[in-house]
Amino acid sequence: ILEIKDLVKTYGNRTVLDGINLTVKEKEVISILGSSGSGKSTLLRCINLLEEPTQAKIYFHNKDIIKNHTKPEEYRQKVGMVFQNFNLFDNLTVLDNCTISPIKILGIDKEKATKKAIHYLKKVGMDRFINARPKHLSGGQKQRVAIARALCMEPEILLFDEPTSALDPEMVTEVLNTMTDLAKDGMTMLVVTHEMNFARDVSTRVIFLDQGKIIEDNNSHDFFYNQQNERIKEFIK
Ligand code: ATP
Ligand code: MG
Repeated sequence: ILEIKDLVKTYGNRTVLDGINLTVKEKEVISILGSSGSGKSTLLRCINLLEEPTQAKIYFHNKDIIKNHTKPEEYRQKVGMVFQNFNLFDNLTVLDNCTISPIKILGIDKEKATKKAIHYLKKVGMDRFINARPKHLSGGQKQRVAIARALCMEPEILLFDEPTSALDPEMVTEVLNTMTDLAKDGMTMLVVTHEMNFARDVSTRVIFLDQGKIIEDNNSHDFFYNQQNERIKEFIK
């Protein structure tokens, strides 16, 4: 569904991503691990074209999206993103947060967008809060709304950048459970995370980034149980 070839990202003379190659198949759930500064967020942002790669070929359904000058907004509808800090619109209700993009970007009528929003808010267990404002919600609730909002665009791939890192410990589980449900439903997901249990038990594949390079790309079982690399072993601990 997605193929990244020779992705390089530099800031000034600093190479942050150094020749990333990555093929994502439908329904794969890939955890992206690595120490702070290894380039995980930059990788997701480049995949999503929130950041312009210095060099890369990105094929989505075999179509070269850079060469074909695919509109970033159009592509981002298919490749959605969930952020660490939710990025909800604070002045809008939960429902409006979920309907605004489908109405404005996809041109869906309000009634249909509302139905869709309620469907996905139900899925994440937040349908009782449609009239609430984000500031009245807990972190875990906000993140579940952010996931519902992303789903309302009917993406084919969802990127998550440390979706539970800003949450109090007791909120982490509810968000991880929501993500586990999505994985079970067959959503294709790329997840930057420090949650080793999620990486081990939910994701099908684990990628380890080090100084802008993928130094391991393995199925999650072998990544955790047959790990040969001493540094990664240390990281897992
Ligand atoms: P963390 O686990 O702390 O979130 P990360 O793996 O997500 O780290 P990135 O945020 O991708 O790492 O950053 C990788 C490197 O790129 C860092 O050294 C960072 O300082 C640098 N970097 C990121 N964005 C920019 C920018 N806009 N300008 C300059 N340098 C940047
Ligand atoms: Mg990051």
